[in-house]
Amino acid sequence: MRTIIEPFRIKMVEPIRMTTKEERQAIIEAAGYNPFLVKAEDVLIDLLTDSGTSAMSQEQWAGLMRGDESYAGSRSFIRFESVTKSLTGLRHVIPTHQGRAAERILFSLVGGKGRIIPSNTHFDTTRANIEFEGARAVDVIAPDGTDPEVLAPFKGNMDLVALEALIRDVGPENVPVCMLTVTNNATGGQPVSMANIRDTKALLRQFDIPLFLDACRFAENAWFIKMREDGYAEKTLEEIAKEMFSHVDGCTMSAKKDALANIGGFLAVNDDELAQRVRALLILTEGFPTYGGLAGRDLEAIAQGLIEILDEDYMRYRVRSVEFLGERLLSLGVPIFQPTGGHAVYVDAGRFLPHIPESRFPGQALVSALYVEGGIRAVEVGSVMFGHNAKAELVRLAIPRRVLTQSHVEYVVEVFESIVRNKDNIPGMRFVHEAKVLRHFTSTFEPV
Ligand SMILES: *Cc1c(COP(=O)(O)O)cnc(C)c1O
Repeated sequence: MRTIIEPFRIKMVEPIRMTTKEERQAIIEAAGYNPFLVKAEDVLIDLLTDSGTSAMSQEQWAGLMRGDESYAGSRSFIRFESVTKSLTGLRHVIPTHQGRAAERILFSLVGGKGRIIPSNTHFDTTRANIEFEGARAVDVIAPDGTDPEVLAPFKGNMDLVALEALIRDVGPENVPVCMLTVTNNATGGQPVSMANIRDTKALLRQFDIPLFLDACRFAENAWFIKMREDGYAEKTLEEIAKEMFSHVDGCTMSAKKDALANIGGFLAVNDDELAQRVRALLILTEGFPTYGGLAGRDLEAIAQGLIEILDEDYMRYRVRSVEFLGERLLSLGVPIFQPTGGHAVYVDAGRFLPHIPESRFPGQALVSALYVEGGIRAVEVGSVMFGHNAKAELVRLAIPRRVLTQSHVEYVVEVFESIVRNKDNIPGMRFVHEAKVLRHFTSTFEPV
């Protein structure tokens, strides 16, 4: 069969409140043209993020009822630990309330002034946690990885030549750990190949530097390896994921992504001594090591989600629906970051709206137009978010897991059709209120 269907049916529904274009015009104006300031209720299709927005399965909801809320050694922790250890093969798995809590603990132990922490590309919370401790976060992405038009299979790969040069330049004693983000959220959700994971580890071994995965989207990465890398077509996603983890010394994980949970995360390490220091810090801010800032029921949901995410029918549907949206936008002449990754389509608003200069925020202009035209909420990933450090003026359309149907995606395409027809009339934006930090969250704008 050609048609790839959602491999689930709907048992419980959450209504979406329909709005008119006139209502949305008034709502976005009142929100200062910033979709972060729009109430979720006023959004028809929410593509703001894939983080914590997954729909849980019947088994996850059943797990909530089974959650053991004992302070120490709960049954739910034991299940969580058994699933995560079996998946990662790592000796110590320590739950945290989110991915960034795992980052905060890791980098306060291994980071600090004079330290350099490389990655293919650091996610923004990772970078912030590294830099907060005084260390330097350095991106070492292969050159193709940031070019939106190159159709390479593994654009998330680490540049090994540049990594080796960096390590020799700063001295291996100043590189306490190397990160590898799978898939690479900061550049289009692009995957990293198994060969690159293996070769990165082999290089780091020479210098005795541990390799950590930022594993938030490990299962989507495993799917791309299965589809695109020689020798993996016949392997299961579980086998591929386990092989990915077999090459690393630890990982940070946000359960809000590929654990299909609404909250949670973990830090996993092989090193016994490091694990002890992690647990000591964990108690200060997260909680006892068998719950780490989570309820027992959250641990159940995560354990179950980590099993379900490796279902190939699910992953085929997920990646196909992202790819479908990308293909349709391209056929409308909307430039996107290619190829599409696992969790989002990134529209190149700079090229799509060439009449709007960077200083008038083409991404923010498109985000506002998407809301007014169709009640779609997306996020600007460009000059508003990164200021002068922006590499491109992108708009991210993130697809929540198991939440939308195919007709929702087709509706998004139709909204774009209408936007394409009127794109020359979309006005640029200027700040009314410019927030000092993390500008995209709270700044307000007006059309120019
Ligand atoms: C979401 C994310 C994080 C941080 O996780 P939170 O649960 O949001 O704190 C870290 N790295 C990557 C690649 C992410 O996508």
